[in-house]
Amino acid sequence: MSLLPSFTSLFVIWVFLNPVIAFAQKLICPVGETQIEEHPKRAYAEKDGTFVRKSQVAEHCREIFPGSKVWVSYFKNGVSENWPQKNETHKNWLASEKKIILTTVKELPDQLKLISLIRISRASVSKHKENPASSVVPLGELTLYDLFFKADNSTRFEILAHEMTHFLIKDFKNKELYDFSKIAGWGHVKKKGPGGEKVVIIAPRKLLLSDSNIDVEEDFANHMQIYLAKPEILKKFNISTYEWFFKKFPMGQRK
Ligand SMILES: [Zn+2]
Repeated sequence: MSLLPSFTSLFVIWVFLNPVIAFAQKLICPVGETQIEEHPKRAYAEKDGTFVRKSQVAEHCREIFPGSKVWVSYFKNGVSENWPQKNETHKNWLASEKKIILTTVKELPDQLKLISLIRISRASVSKHKENPASSVVPLGELTLYDLFFKADNSTRFEILAHEMTHFLIKDFKNKELYDFSKIAGWGHVKKKGPGGEKVVIIAPRKLLLSDSNIDVEEDFANHMQIYLAKPEILKKFNISTYEWFFKKFPMGQRK
């Protein structure tokens, strides 16, 4: 009897182990990263003339967008002790929901991706029932509700563009909001009061969205939302505000 394994026994072992090996090799990327298939890389030359031969790039995981791993750290289960709406029911995040958010954020211009948040929470229904999302900017907190996940992709893009703009405004100089308010048609009326003369800001008659008259910041977030998602509507509404946004956020429009 030979001590060497027969061809048949080796074949049987291979048949049994093959699925195990295949399973072990399957790349599973963490939330915030996406799988890049193995692919050939063409030969190229460096600036200094160094020739780099063609190669085969192995399958690997890559961030969904630069900084997406940082965004993953914002997702937190349950409610923070500072969240003001105590009657809302918070829940735990599903991996699929995090992925929906990250693939939506990927579409936002860099200025809105670079916002640093403290926390993104998940709750069932807002205190204001029709709200898909709400932010408390001073806390650095954003909460997303069931309605956000029931919306279609383009609506979700608009919602996040709007909410992230509220966080972006936090770092604005007053001059930027003042300039915006002027071209967006907000009235600046001088009024004399007991403390001296003040300038009162009055909402424009023609509103971009129905809640644009809440204040200049809300109107600004509405403008950014429409500029990014439906630029043609903003162009028709007020070409000056469209051009102002185009100067500040030239790469911002959705392709
Ligand atoms: Zn808002």
